[in-house]
Amino acid sequence: MAATVPIRRQLSVDIHRALQSWCHVWAADDLAAQITVEFSSRMTRSLGRCYPERNLIRIAQFVLEDSDALVQEVLCHEAAHLAAHHLHGSSIRPHGPEWKALMLMAGYPPTVRFKLAAISRPPVKARRRRTLVAIIEGLRKEILKGLARG
Ligand SMILES: [Zn+2]
Repeated sequence: MAATVPIRRQLSVDIHRALQSWCHVWAADDLAAQITVEFSSRMTRSLGRCYPERNLIRIAQFVLEDSDALVQEVLCHEAAHLAAHHLHGSSIRPHGPEWKALMLMAGYPPTVRFKLAAISRPPVKARRRRTLVAIIEGLRKEILKGLARG
């Protein structure tokens, strides 16, 4: 299986085993070995994303800083998308009855929104502030250079 291990910390969630057991419950055993899981530090808005054509799941790196339970639920949410696509084709709605049924089978409520309270999302304001500081620094240097040139 091609699941990549996150760099920041070793997961106590066994991704391979989790995917295997869900796929088994979903009667899609052959799917588990085809799934690739990646962790992305560039994802800041969504917790997870999936690409059914590539059997690829991408999970935001910051989710790893939350509880293992959440990591597992996000993983299951995305895996259920892949399984729904695998079992029912591409014409189904993303969070339609097929996906909902798979979530229930895996033991999760088929909710689309995650409880974000516990999550330490990278603060957007802090990032903006950093950009602004960088711009001001740049201007200051330009002015100083101009003054030096006389
Ligand atoms: Zn979804």
